[in-house]
Amino acid sequence: MIEILNAEEFELMKASGKILQEVFKVIRDEIKPGMSTHDVDKIAYNIIRSHDAIPSFLNFGTPPFPGTICASVNEAVVHGIPRKTKILQEGDILSVDVGCVLEGYQADACRTYLVGEVAPEVADLVKRTEESFFKGLEFAKEGCRTGDIGNAVQTYCESFGYGVVRELEGHGIGTTMHQDPSVPNFGKPGHGCKLRKGMAICIEPMITLGSREIEMLPDQWTIVTQDGKPASHYENTILITEDGPYMTTYDYEEGF
Ligand code: MG
Repeated sequence: MIEILNAEEFELMKASGKILQEVFKVIRDEIKPGMSTHDVDKIAYNIIRSHDAIPSFLNFGTPPFPGTICASVNEAVVHGIPRKTKILQEGDILSVDVGCVLEGYQADACRTYLVGEVAPEVADLVKRTEESFFKGLEFAKEGCRTGDIGNAVQTYCESFGYGVVRELEGHGIGTTMHQDPSVPNFGKPGHGCKLRKGMAICIEPMITLGSREIEMLPDQWTIVTQDGKPASHYENTILITEDGPYMTTYDYEEGF
């Protein structure tokens, strides 16, 4: 089912998205080598709860996800479990995927952070993954199709020889975290679901430095690259408005 939200519901989506903007900025300012991914998780949990919102990943799925954030380090693509024993090292990259629900309306977004000095080819991967999101965003408007978005992301990333993960994809969002339509990071222009005013979607490129093949760790959550090369992830919650796309989880003033 595709949910069509009205103007009032868009305002609630914005309020929920604003909380994640704060999460991302505090983590950006505090992240450093020596912190555990559990420490980062705690920051997100405390901010979300301080707004009387609910972390939507916590206890989600089977087995129940034990964190507020998915903390995916280096070769982890998505769904990494935050751990006290996972200490961030100089040169790591950490993707923080986080969701919250406020007054029944969801926000879901991700940033990949550089921890200290990072190898140039890895820093480039992170930067271009973010750029690929914005290539896709150009098509997040009325009348365009999800295939237009996927094609834009895929074309940009593959031009650098990167792998585009296909088994996981963006999604519709609203009163539930994951709903139709699916928003793959690959596709053909003119194919897929047509976007309409009132829809809300997440675009979330998951891009690898090597091959696009992935596998799941025995913890039943963490998805890693098969070749062990780093992966980057970037995501925002986007409202399809008559004036074009509006990202609820992105601070337009700071550009972050
Ligand atoms: Mg998502």
